[in-house]
Amino acid sequence: MTGASQQLTVGVDIGGSKIEVALVDADGRVVATSRRPSGGMESDPDQVVAEVAARVAELRSDAPGEGIAALGIAVAGQIDPETGVVRYSPNLQWRDVPLRRELERALEIPAWAINDVQAVTWGEWRRGAGRGVSDLICLFVGTGVGGGIVAGGRLVTGASGSAGELGHTVLDPQGPLCHCGTTGCLEAYAGGWAIAQRVQRAVAEQPEAGRGLLALAHGGPETLSAAILAKAAHGSDLLARRLVDEVGTALGAGVASMVNALNPQLVILGGGVIEGLPELVVRVEETVRKRALPVSADTVRVVKSELGPHAGVVGAALWAGERLAAAG
Ligand SMILES: [Zn+2]
Repeated sequence: MTGASQQLTVGVDIGGSKIEVALVDADGRVVATSRRPSGGMESDPDQVVAEVAARVAELRSDAPGEGIAALGIAVAGQIDPETGVVRYSPNLQWRDVPLRRELERALEIPAWAINDVQAVTWGEWRRGAGRGVSDLICLFVGTGVGGGIVAGGRLVTGASGSAGELGHTVLDPQGPLCHCGTTGCLEAYAGGWAIAQRVQRAVAEQPEAGRGLLALAHGGPETLSAAILAKAAHGSDLLARRLVDEVGTALGAGVASMVNALNPQLVILGGGVIEGLPELVVRVEETVRKRALPVSADTVRVVKSELGPHAGVVGAALWAGERLAAAG
């Protein structure tokens, strides 16, 4: 073990439905984890701070004698990267919550806060699929679609901390309604919620062709989801395959626009939809080669994320470790 890898930091990922807390070494390895469900009632900021403090105490008692150097906190929403104030988190319904200050006060550990997908991007860049690359895009396709950008060897956070909202790249202004309130965003075609809606609509419109999908649904048509689509497509269901093609085309078109804008060496795709439909990685790369300008399309590679389900906590922990080093 090198000296550097002995520094331990804690990563915290505060999502809409869970809080994940992990002890991470400087190589990005998860040393210990703590996970528990966090229902709607726990989205109260004071309760979240108390919960995180309890989990960190649990990790400290699991690793006695190991000092925790810093805490990195990932939150879905708009975070001020300097002050660690959560400006706005739609999932948690928070506005202007001084999360970093509250956690530093509760735990007496230096802390930094970052947007959750920016944390994932940081983790993939430092210790995942993006190691050694100075220009990359990370696109996480889960229920929603989030993104992060590394340009010129720096994580782009933007003027008010919200850079990388790539899921709201508009593909068609006349397209379907998006959760952000506008229409035709990439997320409204490729996010898990949008895929579920699209499958449900297709099965309602084409009951004969949709029989295979419905048979997998163990419930009414309203239970059709992206996961069921993946299962049906891998079982050679023709309608399912066509719908997966549609998702791939939308993702590829969106990524092609991003590639034109940023000229990255690498596009990293991750999240639940990509885990369920890994063939989308190749599909997106093909579409980018066809649609992006040759000068950018010829040099970019599209790959799958490497950090897996703990990417958020690992990224947040590594981010805190590097901020601590920069501050010291
Ligand atoms: Zn949108």
